[in-house]
Amino acid sequence: MSRTIAYLDTPNQQKPSRARTEMYNTMRSDDVQRDAMATFGDNYGALTFAGENARRRLGPHALEQLERTVQHGEPLNEAIANEVATAMKDWAIENGCTHYCHWFQPLTGSTAEKHDSFLNLDHNGQPLAEFSGDALICGEPDASSFPSGGVRDTWEARGYTAWDPTSPAFIMRNGGERTLCIPTAFVSWTGESLDLKTPLLRSNDAISKQAMRVLRLFGNDAGVRHVYTTLGCEQEYFLIDEDLAAMRPDLAMCGRTVMGAQPPKGHQLDDHYFGSIPPDVQAFMGDAEERLYELGIPAKTRHNEVAPRQFELAPLFERANVASDHQQLIMNVLKRAARRNGFTCLLHEKPFAGINGTGKHNNWSMSTDTGHNLLSPGKRGGSNLQFLTFVCAVVRALDLHADILRGSIASAGNDHRLGANEAPPAILSMYTGEELQAMLDKLATGETAAFDSKTELDLGSTVMPTLERHAGDRNRTSPFAFIGNRFEFRAVGGQAPVAWPNTVLNTAVAESIDFIATAIEAAVAEGETKGSIEASATSVLGDVLKQHRRVIFNGDNYTEAWHAEAEQRGLPILRGTADALPAFRGDDVAEMFDSYGVMSTRELNARIDVLIEMYCTTVTIEANTMMQMADRMVRPAAVRYCTELAESVATMATAGASCTAVASDLNQLISVMDVLATRQGALRAAIDHNVGDNDAHASHVQNTLIPAMDAVRLACDDIESIVPVDLWPMPSYTDMLFG
Ligand code: ADP
Ligand code: MG
Repeated sequence: MSRTIAYLDTPNQQKPSRARTEMYNTMRSDDVQRDAMATFGDNYGALTFAGENARRRLGPHALEQLERTVQHGEPLNEAIANEVATAMKDWAIENGCTHYCHWFQPLTGSTAEKHDSFLNLDHNGQPLAEFSGDALICGEPDASSFPSGGVRDTWEARGYTAWDPTSPAFIMRNGGERTLCIPTAFVSWTGESLDLKTPLLRSNDAISKQAMRVLRLFGNDAGVRHVYTTLGCEQEYFLIDEDLAAMRPDLAMCGRTVMGAQPPKGHQLDDHYFGSIPPDVQAFMGDAEERLYELGIPAKTRHNEVAPRQFELAPLFERANVASDHQQLIMNVLKRAARRNGFTCLLHEKPFAGINGTGKHNNWSMSTDTGHNLLSPGKRGGSNLQFLTFVCAVVRALDLHADILRGSIASAGNDHRLGANEAPPAILSMYTGEELQAMLDKLATGETAAFDSKTELDLGSTVMPTLERHAGDRNRTSPFAFIGNRFEFRAVGGQAPVAWPNTVLNTAVAESIDFIATAIEAAVAEGETKGSIEASATSVLGDVLKQHRRVIFNGDNYTEAWHAEAEQRGLPILRGTADALPAFRGDDVAEMFDSYGVMSTRELNARIDVLIEMYCTTVTIEANTMMQMADRMVRPAAVRYCTELAESVATMATAGASCTAVASDLNQLISVMDVLATRQGALRAAIDHNVGDNDAHASHVQNTLIPAMDAVRLACDDIESIVPVDLWPMPSYTDMLFG
């Protein structure tokens, strides 16, 4: 065992056991030779009802109908649904399933599943395995225990899950158990959506409808039936020794540490980022990836991240709805694989204060169903006005709706991250890079410019190849950056479901595409630019840029100077969740979501209420956890050390000696303990303070409860830095991050 941690010597503590992990790793390397062909050929998608698995079991007619539904959103009739259900059941049973479930994403942000077995009884009472089209298409879970934000009363329990045929059904392995999971939308008896998937699907339709207008305007719509948003999410995470994590109630309850003195080393040396991956972590990654491949999730990239014990996984991008389901599964698979490998996987935005937090970079673009990326400037270096139209729509959307986009990523966890010098700030701005900036500058003066997508990079050595240099550099500090052929929304939180921010982004962009398309159509029909699409588009886009380019910022987003400048530019600065979520309450915002058919005002308000409630509840749980740890761990440890010090002082005095250092340690400790007691009193009062109204409660949490927690934390961390390691009752940052 490589870890030598002082507190291990403390009696009554469970010793971390790495033996299991080591055994598992040895077993893996000896017995499991990963074969690329087996992994990507036979194994890839083996547990999804898609591709070969569906083709082999469905008749040509059913297959064609299903394909039309998946590709073009056409409805599926009952007979076909029955055939699909039977084929799916046979496939699932052959793969070891006894149960199926409708798998959905309620407003809690996690996933939900209610299992039913395939068991039925025939008229003689004999058991048989059965799964009908009805059961595939519609389920009926009790909706009363899921948050509805007031859409439903507790007694109004009826809710439905509706099959989403565009996201492949899959088999989830859980130990020896296997369950057929059917991705579904979740709606109430009234037809109002109670989940995150439904508005995302609707927002995709909104984008599609508006983007098609632009394609028609530029004469590029031949053969295109639908425009999709595409999504690739880079997931960061921490891996901590499971036994160490289990000794921290805060990690168990909150997924983050609510106290912990800083270790002498953080990531100042930048020696972890892209460093060689430790063997036990690589074994974990291989295990997780195998599970992801089975589920048809195209995990592509893995590497060490900036902070110690922090890593990243990125899949290839997919259509947004599927990518969003897959994102939920990735988080689930990472957590389970971590457990199998003796780790705890932390997805929380800020598990360790003072150490880089965890985000999810949301790479987003729009693509036709014929595979043309609408945010790709193209290789020809032409002026590409259609590309600029879509870019300008995003610029306008970001400027007009910066507040709700900020709100779409607001959570208790992400508040710790946004604004710190590691993550994008809470101010939303766009990074364009030099080349796109030059094009936009020209456009604002009524001209068009070519996009030189790539130049050459000479490395100055004859043995090295000449590289192609991308048009723009990268800007890690920007919350929303153009990356050559897509935008990267970098401020999304590590544990956030991506459906929600993408729903907001899609709707805001759909509205701007609508606005721009309407203006270009009008300009083509009349006025100075009449008849010319080029002249009309150039003029409209120029005006849009003049009005909205203040949201573009290519400098360092981490600096104080930017905060001051952003304020001058009139960009919203919404520091915390309690500031950001109320932005959704504006009438114009409700009108936008309603008019594009994404959410009714009731559906929107319900979501905001649920998010605010979750924010308050999360912080209150953290505060109570902190109180318990202070009461039951920190103070008793401090008292023990006080007693030890007092006994030393007394013993020394008896021996006729006096040591001022020991006496001063004692006095210092006593005074910090007093400070802690006072601050805990204030924290208790803040927790107990009863605020009726949802928004007012959120303000109280942000402005009173969190500062009270910060104060208690400081005192606890002071005590930790005084109390000897053998008396400290929980693993320290050093143990967890460097042990
Ligand atoms: P980096 O860390 O350099 O930003 P990664 O390769 O880790 O890059 O992740 C980039 C992500 O962007 C991947 O998930 C990739 O599939 C995704 N991506 C690439 N092109 C598109 C696109 N057109 N639409 C959406 N996502 C994309
Ligand atoms: Mg990236």
